[in-house]
Amino acid sequence: MAGEPQADCLFCKIVAGEVPATIVRETETTVAFRDISPQAPTHVLVIPKVHYANAGELAAAEPRIAGEVLSEAAAVAADEKVDATGYRIIFNTGPGAGQTVFHAHAHVLGGRDLQRLV
Ligand code: IMP
Repeated sequence: MAGEPQADCLFCKIVAGEVPATIVRETETTVAFRDISPQAPTHVLVIPKVHYANAGELAAAEPRIAGEVLSEAAAVAADEKVDATGYRIIFNTGPGAGQTVFHAHAHVLGGRDLQRLV
């Protein structure tokens, strides 16, 4: 069921503590942890604890939690001191956009000159 933990979901397993992760922030509804394959000096993923396949599905079902993912992403940037120099928040949505883990997540990237994509 939407919002419920999925047995085959890697990020649900991180939420449950079944897969280790370097957690940098946690709230009642979100977890932020370092990406295992960082693409920048700061590369943190912020996820909702509830399972939705992507950011759009999360926002439609749980807009308050979607907002908390965004505010936690900004808090990560402040913690990592990349807010002054600039950072990116990215939600890859769908395989064609490079999404590989189908549990909504924000990438927070910073600490280097980020190539302009759009
Ligand atoms: P996506 O490609 O937008 O779905 O992002 C998934 C991200 O999860 C990638 O950047 C991966 O490097 C990252 N990732 C995959 N497995 C793990 C893990 O076990 N811990 C932390 N990050 C992971």
